[in-house]
Amino acid sequence: MRVAVASSRLARKAVQPQQRRGFACTAQRLDNYGFIGLGQMGYQMAKNLQSKLKPTDKVSIFDVNPEAMKSLETEMKAASNGATVELAASAFDASKDADTVVTVLPEPKHVKGVYESILTSDLPKKARIYIDCSTIDPSTSRQVAKSVADAGQGTFVDAPMSGGVVGATAGTLTFMLGAAESLVPRLEPVLLLMGKKVLHCGEQGAGLSAKLANNYLLALNNIATAEAMNLGMKWGLDARKLAGVINVSTGKCWPSEVNNPVKGVIETAPANRDYRGGFGISLMKKDLRLAMFAAKEAGAKMALADTAYSVYEEAEKLDQCAGRDFSVVYRYLEGKEDWE
Ligand code: NAD
Repeated sequence: MRVAVASSRLARKAVQPQQRRGFACTAQRLDNYGFIGLGQMGYQMAKNLQSKLKPTDKVSIFDVNPEAMKSLETEMKAASNGATVELAASAFDASKDADTVVTVLPEPKHVKGVYESILTSDLPKKARIYIDCSTIDPSTSRQVAKSVADAGQGTFVDAPMSGGVVGATAGTLTFMLGAAESLVPRLEPVLLLMGKKVLHCGEQGAGLSAKLANNYLLALNNIATAEAMNLGMKWGLDARKLAGVINVSTGKCWPSEVNNPVKGVIETAPANRDYRGGFGISLMKKDLRLAMFAAKEAGAKMALADTAYSVYEEAEKLDQCAGRDFSVVYRYLEGKEDWE
Protein backbone atom coordinates (compact mmCIF):
# COMPACT_ATOMS: atom_id res chain seq x y z
CA MET A 1 0.00 0.00 0.00
CA ARG A 2 1.50 3.32 -1.02
CA VAL A 3 0.69 6.06 1.41
CA ALA A 4 0.91 9.59 0.17
CA VAL A 5 0.54 12.35 2.71
CA ALA A 6 -0.07 15.93 1.66
CA SER A 7 -0.05 18.85 4.04
CA SER A 8 -2.64 21.60 3.78
CA ARG A 9 0.11 24.11 2.91
CA LEU A 10 1.23 22.05 -0.05
CA ALA A 11 -2.37 21.55 -1.04
CA ARG A 12 -3.11 25.22 -0.98
CA LYS A 13 -0.37 25.63 -3.56
CA ALA A 14 -1.89 22.80 -5.56
CA VAL A 15 -5.44 24.01 -5.24
CA GLN A 16 -5.02 27.10 -7.37
CA PRO A 17 -4.03 25.45 -10.66
CA GLN A 18 -6.52 22.69 -9.86
CA GLN A 19 -9.45 25.08 -9.60
CA ARG A 20 -8.46 26.89 -12.76
CA ARG A 21 -8.16 23.61 -14.65
CA GLY A 22 -9.37 24.05 -18.22
CA PHE A 23 -10.74 27.55 -17.78
CA ALA A 24 -7.69 29.71 -17.17
CA CYS A 25 -9.01 32.61 -19.26
CA THR A 26 -12.67 32.47 -18.19
CA ALA A 27 -12.64 33.85 -14.65
CA GLN A 28 -16.46 33.69 -14.52
CA ARG A 29 -16.47 29.87 -14.78
CA LEU A 30 -18.16 28.25 -11.77
CA ASP A 31 -16.70 25.25 -10.05
CA ASN A 32 -19.81 23.44 -8.89
CA TYR A 33 -20.06 21.17 -5.87
CA GLY A 34 -22.92 19.04 -4.62
CA PHE A 35 -22.84 18.08 -0.93
CA ILE A 36 -25.24 15.41 0.32
CA GLY A 37 -25.61 14.34 3.97
CA LEU A 38 -25.43 17.17 6.52
CA GLY A 39 -25.26 15.23 9.78
CA GLN A 40 -22.69 15.49 12.54
CA MET A 41 -19.77 15.17 10.11
CA GLY A 42 -21.17 16.42 6.79
CA TYR A 43 -22.56 19.66 8.22
CA GLN A 44 -19.13 20.78 9.44
CA MET A 45 -17.31 19.47 6.36
CA ALA A 46 -19.67 21.32 4.01
CA LYS A 47 -19.15 24.48 6.03
CA ASN A 48 -15.37 24.24 5.69
CA LEU A 49 -15.58 23.42 2.00
CA GLN A 50 -17.91 26.31 1.20
CA SER A 51 -15.92 28.84 3.23
CA LYS A 52 -12.66 27.97 1.44
CA LEU A 53 -14.03 28.10 -2.12
CA LYS A 54 -14.21 31.22 -4.29
CA PRO A 55 -17.36 33.35 -4.58
CA THR A 56 -17.55 32.30 -8.24
CA ASP A 57 -17.94 28.66 -7.14
CA LYS A 58 -21.23 27.11 -6.06
CA VAL A 59 -22.15 24.55 -3.41
CA SER A 60 -25.53 22.90 -3.65
CA ILE A 61 -26.47 21.19 -0.36
CA PHE A 62 -28.99 18.46 0.37
CA ASP A 63 -30.14 16.40 3.35
CA VAL A 64 -33.43 14.60 3.97
CA ASN A 65 -33.58 16.71 7.12
CA PRO A 66 -34.71 20.18 5.94
CA GLU A 67 -33.76 21.77 9.26
CA ALA A 68 -30.10 20.82 8.79
CA MET A 69 -30.16 22.37 5.32
CA LYS A 70 -31.78 25.61 6.48
CA SER A 71 -29.49 26.00 9.45
CA LEU A 72 -26.37 25.36 7.36
CA GLU A 73 -27.52 27.81 4.70
CA THR A 74 -28.03 30.48 7.36
CA GLU A 75 -24.56 29.85 8.83
CA MET A 76 -22.89 29.86 5.42
CA LYS A 77 -24.61 33.07 4.34
CA ALA A 78 -23.80 34.79 7.65
CA ALA A 79 -20.09 34.12 7.05
CA SER A 80 -20.34 36.31 3.90
CA ASN A 81 -17.37 34.68 2.20
CA GLY A 82 -16.80 31.53 0.22
CA ALA A 83 -18.86 29.93 -2.52
CA THR A 84 -22.47 30.68 -3.41
CA VAL A 85 -24.86 28.41 -1.52
CA GLU A 86 -27.92 26.74 -2.97
CA LEU A 87 -30.50 24.52 -1.27
CA ALA A 88 -31.25 21.51 -3.45
CA ALA A 89 -34.61 19.75 -3.57
CA SER A 90 -33.03 16.28 -3.82
CA ALA A 91 -29.71 14.46 -4.12
CA PHE A 92 -30.29 14.47 -7.89
CA ASP A 93 -30.84 18.22 -7.85
CA ALA A 94 -27.65 18.78 -5.84
CA SER A 95 -25.66 16.74 -8.38
CA LYS A 96 -27.01 17.78 -11.73
CA ASP A 97 -24.74 20.82 -12.30
CA ALA A 98 -21.91 19.60 -10.08
CA ASP A 99 -18.35 18.80 -11.15
CA THR A 100 -17.70 17.28 -7.72
CA VAL A 101 -20.25 15.57 -5.48
CA VAL A 102 -19.42 14.76 -1.85
CA THR A 103 -21.58 12.30 0.09
CA VAL A 104 -21.43 11.78 3.87
CA LEU A 105 -24.15 9.28 4.75
CA PRO A 106 -24.76 6.85 7.62
CA GLU A 107 -24.88 3.31 6.21
CA PRO A 108 -24.42 1.27 2.99
CA LYS A 109 -28.19 1.34 2.27
CA HIS A 110 -28.24 5.15 2.33
CA VAL A 111 -25.26 5.40 -0.02
CA LYS A 112 -26.86 2.91 -2.45
CA GLY A 113 -30.22 4.68 -2.29
CA VAL A 114 -28.78 8.15 -2.82
CA TYR A 115 -26.69 7.08 -5.85
CA GLU A 116 -29.66 5.23 -7.37
CA SER A 117 -31.66 8.44 -7.10
CA ILE A 118 -28.86 10.47 -8.74
CA LEU A 119 -27.99 8.11 -11.60
CA THR A 120 -31.22 8.41 -13.56
CA SER A 121 -31.49 8.93 -17.31
CA ASP A 122 -32.37 12.61 -16.65
CA LEU A 123 -28.92 13.36 -15.21
CA PRO A 124 -26.94 15.47 -17.70
CA LYS A 125 -23.84 13.53 -18.81
CA LYS A 126 -20.72 14.96 -17.20
CA ALA A 127 -17.31 13.66 -16.11
CA ARG A 128 -18.14 14.19 -12.43
CA ILE A 129 -16.11 13.07 -9.46
CA TYR A 130 -18.17 11.53 -6.68
CA ILE A 131 -16.35 11.41 -3.34
CA ASP A 132 -18.05 9.20 -0.79
CA CYS A 133 -16.77 9.87 2.75
CA SER A 134 -19.24 7.51 4.45
CA THR A 135 -17.96 4.50 6.35
CA ILE A 136 -19.51 1.56 4.50
CA ASP A 137 -18.26 -1.87 3.37
CA PRO A 138 -15.84 -1.98 0.42
CA SER A 139 -18.02 -4.25 -1.72
CA THR A 140 -21.07 -1.95 -1.58
CA SER A 141 -18.70 0.91 -2.40
CA ARG A 142 -17.35 -0.99 -5.43
CA GLN A 143 -20.90 -1.74 -6.61
CA VAL A 144 -21.80 1.95 -6.46
CA ALA A 145 -18.54 2.86 -8.25
CA LYS A 146 -19.48 0.42 -11.03
CA SER A 147 -22.98 1.87 -11.34
CA VAL A 148 -21.50 5.37 -11.75
CA ALA A 149 -19.04 4.13 -14.40
CA ASP A 150 -21.75 2.08 -16.19
CA ALA A 151 -23.99 5.15 -16.34
CA GLY A 152 -21.14 7.12 -17.98
CA GLN A 153 -21.47 9.72 -15.23
CA GLY A 154 -17.86 10.04 -14.11
CA THR A 155 -15.90 8.39 -11.34
CA PHE A 156 -16.80 7.36 -7.81
CA VAL A 157 -14.08 7.14 -5.14
CA ASP A 158 -14.10 6.25 -1.45
CA ALA A 159 -12.58 8.61 1.10
CA PRO A 160 -13.68 7.53 4.59
CA MET A 161 -12.27 9.70 7.33
CA SER A 162 -10.98 9.75 10.85
CA GLY A 163 -10.86 12.64 13.30
CA GLY A 164 -14.49 12.71 14.44
CA VAL A 165 -16.73 15.76 14.78
CA VAL A 166 -13.86 17.72 16.36
CA GLY A 167 -11.70 17.13 13.25
CA ALA A 168 -14.62 17.84 10.91
CA THR A 169 -15.25 21.18 12.63
CA ALA A 170 -11.59 22.19 12.73
CA GLY A 171 -10.98 20.99 9.15
CA THR A 172 -8.29 18.59 10.35
CA LEU A 173 -9.72 15.25 9.19
CA THR A 174 -7.58 12.47 7.77
CA PHE A 175 -8.99 10.88 4.63
CA MET A 176 -8.18 7.33 3.54
CA LEU A 177 -8.50 7.51 -0.20
CA GLY A 178 -9.38 4.64 -2.54
CA ALA A 179 -8.95 5.83 -6.12
CA ALA A 180 -6.83 5.38 -9.23
CA GLU A 181 -3.39 6.95 -8.77
CA SER A 182 -4.04 9.29 -11.71
CA LEU A 183 -6.97 10.89 -9.84
CA VAL A 184 -5.01 11.78 -6.71
CA PRO A 185 -3.95 15.26 -7.93
CA ARG A 186 -7.60 16.04 -8.73
CA LEU A 187 -8.92 14.73 -5.38
CA GLU A 188 -6.32 15.83 -2.84
CA PRO A 189 -6.94 19.58 -3.11
CA VAL A 190 -10.68 19.09 -2.61
CA LEU A 191 -10.24 16.83 0.43
CA LEU A 192 -7.68 19.18 1.94
CA LEU A 193 -10.33 21.91 2.08
CA MET A 194 -11.99 19.70 4.73
CA GLY A 195 -9.03 17.94 6.30
CA LYS A 196 -5.28 18.03 6.71
CA LYS A 197 -4.13 14.62 5.51
CA VAL A 198 -4.94 12.41 2.55
CA LEU A 199 -3.62 8.86 2.69
CA HIS A 200 -3.86 7.23 -0.70
CA CYS A 201 -4.40 3.54 0.08
CA GLY A 202 -4.82 2.09 -3.42
CA GLU A 203 -7.56 1.59 -6.00
CA GLN A 204 -11.25 2.36 -5.37
CA GLY A 205 -12.42 0.50 -2.23
CA ALA A 206 -8.95 0.48 -0.65
CA GLY A 207 -9.67 3.52 1.54
CA LEU A 208 -12.54 1.66 3.19
CA SER A 209 -10.50 -1.53 3.60
CA ALA A 210 -7.80 0.45 5.40
CA LYS A 211 -10.34 2.30 7.54
CA LEU A 212 -12.13 -0.89 8.58
CA ALA A 213 -8.88 -2.76 9.35
CA ASN A 214 -7.80 0.14 11.56
CA ASN A 215 -11.14 0.37 13.33
CA TYR A 216 -11.20 -3.39 13.90
CA LEU A 217 -7.88 -3.07 15.70
CA LEU A 218 -9.20 -0.09 17.64
CA ALA A 219 -12.29 -2.04 18.72
CA LEU A 220 -10.11 -4.80 20.19
CA ASN A 221 -7.47 -2.49 21.71
CA ASN A 222 -10.19 -0.55 23.48
CA ILE A 223 -11.62 -3.66 25.16
CA ALA A 224 -8.15 -5.04 25.92
CA THR A 225 -7.10 -1.74 27.53
CA ALA A 226 -10.25 -1.64 29.68
CA GLU A 227 -9.63 -5.24 30.77
CA ALA A 228 -5.94 -4.68 31.53
CA MET A 229 -6.62 -1.50 33.52
CA ASN A 230 -9.39 -3.23 35.48
CA LEU A 231 -7.18 -6.27 36.10
CA GLY A 232 -4.21 -4.21 37.32
CA MET A 233 -6.41 -2.14 39.61
CA LYS A 234 -8.02 -5.28 41.05
CA TRP A 235 -4.46 -6.40 41.86
CA GLY A 236 -4.03 -3.16 43.78
CA LEU A 237 -2.08 -1.10 41.26
CA ASP A 238 -2.52 2.65 41.05
CA ALA A 239 -4.29 3.45 37.72
CA ARG A 240 -1.93 6.28 36.74
CA LYS A 241 1.18 4.19 37.55
CA LEU A 242 -0.20 1.26 35.58
CA ALA A 243 -1.00 3.46 32.56
CA GLY A 244 2.50 4.97 32.91
CA VAL A 245 4.04 1.50 32.60
CA ILE A 246 1.85 0.41 29.68
CA ASN A 247 2.46 3.63 27.78
CA VAL A 248 6.23 3.12 27.68
CA SER A 249 5.91 -0.64 27.15
CA THR A 250 4.64 -3.03 24.51
CA GLY A 251 0.98 -2.75 25.47
CA LYS A 252 0.89 0.93 24.46
CA CYS A 253 -1.97 1.84 22.11
CA TRP A 254 -4.31 4.78 21.41
CA PRO A 255 -6.90 3.65 23.99
CA SER A 256 -4.23 3.38 26.70
CA GLU A 257 -2.37 6.55 25.81
CA VAL A 258 -5.00 9.02 24.59
CA ASN A 259 -8.44 7.61 25.36
CA ASN A 260 -7.71 5.78 28.59
CA PRO A 261 -10.99 4.39 29.96
CA VAL A 262 -10.20 5.08 33.63
CA LYS A 263 -11.23 8.44 35.07
CA GLY A 264 -8.31 10.52 36.30
CA VAL A 265 -5.63 8.93 34.08
CA ILE A 266 -5.74 11.15 30.99
CA GLU A 267 -7.32 14.52 31.63
CA THR A 268 -8.78 15.00 28.16
CA ALA A 269 -10.25 11.50 27.82
CA PRO A 270 -14.07 11.01 27.78
CA ALA A 271 -13.74 8.91 31.01
CA ASN A 272 -13.39 12.25 32.84
CA ARG A 273 -16.71 13.49 31.43
CA ASP A 274 -18.87 10.49 32.34
CA TYR A 275 -17.84 9.10 28.92
CA ARG A 276 -19.73 11.91 27.10
CA GLY A 277 -18.60 13.03 23.62
CA GLY A 278 -15.87 11.11 21.82
CA PHE A 279 -16.52 8.13 19.55
CA GLY A 280 -19.97 6.73 20.28
CA ILE A 281 -20.32 3.07 21.18
CA SER A 282 -22.93 2.62 18.41
CA LEU A 283 -20.48 3.92 15.75
CA MET A 284 -17.82 1.51 17.01
CA LYS A 285 -20.34 -1.32 16.81
CA LYS A 286 -21.27 -0.30 13.29
CA ASP A 287 -17.64 -0.21 12.09
CA LEU A 288 -16.94 -3.56 13.73
CA ARG A 289 -19.99 -5.07 12.01
CA LEU A 290 -18.82 -3.71 8.63
CA ALA A 291 -15.29 -5.05 9.21
CA MET A 292 -16.69 -8.48 10.11
CA PHE A 293 -18.88 -8.52 7.00
CA ALA A 294 -15.95 -7.52 4.77
CA ALA A 295 -13.67 -10.09 6.50
CA LYS A 296 -16.18 -12.85 5.78
CA GLU A 297 -16.31 -11.84 2.10
CA ALA A 298 -12.51 -11.93 1.92
CA GLY A 299 -12.30 -15.27 3.78
CA ALA A 300 -10.21 -13.76 6.59
CA LYS A 301 -10.45 -15.62 9.90
CA MET A 302 -11.19 -13.25 12.80
CA ALA A 303 -10.78 -15.09 16.08
CA LEU A 304 -11.83 -12.21 18.36
CA ALA A 305 -14.49 -10.44 16.32
CA ASP A 306 -17.65 -12.14 17.64
CA THR A 307 -16.63 -11.74 21.27
CA ALA A 308 -15.71 -8.09 20.77
CA TYR A 309 -19.01 -7.42 19.00
CA SER A 310 -21.02 -8.96 21.84
CA VAL A 311 -19.13 -6.80 24.38
CA TYR A 312 -20.24 -3.62 22.58
CA GLU A 313 -23.72 -4.99 22.02
CA GLU A 314 -24.23 -5.91 25.69
CA ALA A 315 -22.66 -2.67 26.94
CA GLU A 316 -24.97 -0.60 24.75
CA LYS A 317 -28.00 -2.25 26.34
CA LEU A 318 -27.12 -0.69 29.72
CA ASP A 319 -28.53 2.77 30.42
CA GLN A 320 -25.28 3.84 32.07
CA CYS A 321 -23.32 2.97 28.88
CA ALA A 322 -25.68 3.72 25.96
CA GLY A 323 -24.89 6.77 23.85
CA ARG A 324 -21.47 7.23 25.43
CA ASP A 325 -17.87 7.05 24.20
CA PHE A 326 -16.82 3.46 23.40
CA SER A 327 -14.28 3.49 26.26
CA VAL A 328 -17.36 3.05 28.48
CA VAL A 329 -16.76 -0.73 28.13
CA TYR A 330 -14.61 -0.22 31.25
CA ARG A 331 -17.84 0.63 33.10
CA TYR A 332 -19.52 -2.40 31.52
CA LEU A 333 -16.67 -4.53 32.95
CA GLU A 334 -17.53 -3.01 36.34
CA GLY A 335 -14.17 -1.30 36.62
CA LYS A 336 -13.69 0.99 39.62
CA GLU A 337 -14.38 4.63 38.67
CA ASP A 338 -13.87 6.49 41.97
CA TRP A 339 -10.55 4.92 42.90
CA GLU A 340 -8.62 7.99 44.08
P1 NAD B 1 -25.22 11.36 10.98
O1 NAD B 1 -26.23 10.28 11.18
O2 NAD B 1 -25.04 12.42 12.00
O3 NAD B 1 -25.52 12.11 9.57
C1 NAD B 1 -25.98 11.50 8.42
C2 NAD B 1 -26.82 12.49 7.67
O4 NAD B 1 -27.25 11.86 6.46
C3 NAD B 1 -28.08 12.91 8.42
O5 NAD B 1 -28.17 14.32 8.47
C4 NAD B 1 -29.21 12.31 7.62
O6 NAD B 1 -30.41 13.08 7.64
C5 NAD B 1 -28.58 12.28 6.24
N1 NAD B 1 -29.23 11.35 5.33
C6 NAD B 1 -29.66 10.10 5.56
N2 NAD B 1 -30.22 9.56 4.46
C7 NAD B 1 -30.14 10.52 3.51
C8 NAD B 1 -30.57 10.59 2.15
N3 NAD B 1 -31.18 9.56 1.57
N4 NAD B 1 -30.34 11.72 1.47
C9 NAD B 1 -29.72 12.77 2.06
N5 NAD B 1 -29.31 12.77 3.34
C10 NAD B 1 -29.52 11.65 4.05
O7 NAD B 1 -23.86 10.62 10.71
P2 NAD B 1 -22.37 11.21 10.87
O8 NAD B 1 -21.94 11.08 12.27
O9 NAD B 1 -22.31 12.53 10.19
O10 NAD B 1 -21.54 10.13 10.03
C11 NAD B 1 -21.60 10.07 8.62
C12 NAD B 1 -20.65 8.97 8.16
O11 NAD B 1 -19.33 9.26 8.60
C13 NAD B 1 -21.01 7.59 8.72
O12 NAD B 1 -20.80 6.61 7.74
C14 NAD B 1 -20.06 7.44 9.89
O13 NAD B 1 -19.77 6.10 10.19
C15 NAD B 1 -18.83 8.17 9.37
N6 NAD B 1 -17.98 8.71 10.43
C16 NAD B 1 -18.52 9.34 11.51
C17 NAD B 1 -17.67 9.84 12.50
C18 NAD B 1 -18.24 10.53 13.73
O14 NAD B 1 -17.47 10.76 14.67
N7 NAD B 1 -19.52 10.91 13.74
C19 NAD B 1 -16.28 9.70 12.38
C20 NAD B 1 -15.75 9.08 11.25
C21 NAD B 1 -16.61 8.59 10.28
